[in-house]
Amino acid sequence: MTTAFGTLYIVATPIGNLSDISERALNTLKSVDHIAVEDTRHSAPLLKQFGIHKPLKALHDHNERHSLTWFIKELEAGHSIALISDAGTPLIADPGYHIVSGLRNLGFSISPIPGPCALIAALSASGLATDHFCFEGFLSAKTAARLAQLMALAHEPYTMVFYEAPHRICETLEAMQQVFGPDRIVCLARELTKTFETIKTGPLSTIIPWLKADSNQQRGEFVIVVAGAPTPDKHELSLDDQRLLTLLRRQMPLKAASQLAAEYTGKSKNTFYDFGITHD
Ligand code: SAM
Repeated sequence: MTTAFGTLYIVATPIGNLSDISERALNTLKSVDHIAVEDTRHSAPLLKQFGIHKPLKALHDHNERHSLTWFIKELEAGHSIALISDAGTPLIADPGYHIVSGLRNLGFSISPIPGPCALIAALSASGLATDHFCFEGFLSAKTAARLAQLMALAHEPYTMVFYEAPHRICETLEAMQQVFGPDRIVCLARELTKTFETIKTGPLSTIIPWLKADSNQQRGEFVIVVAGAPTPDKHELSLDDQRLLTLLRRQMPLKAASQLAAEYTGKSKNTFYDFGITHD
């Protein structure tokens, strides 16, 4: 691929507070030949506010796959393109994946201009573990499918981040309580970077009544950050662990059986040994 080809820039825009637009984002939007937007009606006023007047190309879920040839033609003609979404970082619960993956497979130059992202903003202020996390996006709007998705995450040990719409926030938290239990800690991050920004962390058993008691708190945009499942106590033996020890005991002395069971389960050797002594 020659360098005469254009570049696709993935440009993050504010999630509510216009001052969060970066200098690089503005310079990039001013320098490109086209701006691909999720919704022209949404982005035109924002761009106008920053004094940016460029040809806009609509890119949404329904035309994304068919738009790849347009991107290829423009980039091959040496034109550069910026991709933005309605808010935040494109591709994060927003269109763009098929374009970026298609163009990268063809070897085109794609460069991110990083900036606001609701999931990272919420996670960073949540007080929950940030060393490992998984982004789950929007849960299904259908009750049964949503429960099934949550049940698949019941033992997820890492922090989970969800997006949710205001009209579903209460029922989603209730479904989480049903699956994760009332003690699971969550952080509700509402209207981040905006006037009514509210961030509240606590067990589901206190967050749900607090939210239900104030209809104002049910308005706006939400990120739900959920603590990972508590790791099982290394000193507690499950029924399976106990059965394993019993089986091993039939073949070898308690000390060796405890050693082997500990290696297999990751639990403490002494826990197996103590259990064996008291249950022999
Ligand atoms: N691409 C965006 C990003 O980088 O975060 C997300 C787009 S997704 C279609 C929109 C969802 O993100 C909203 O329904 C809400 O769950 C979350 N969101 C966006 N802005 C937010 C904000 N200011 N405060 C809280 N959540 C927000």
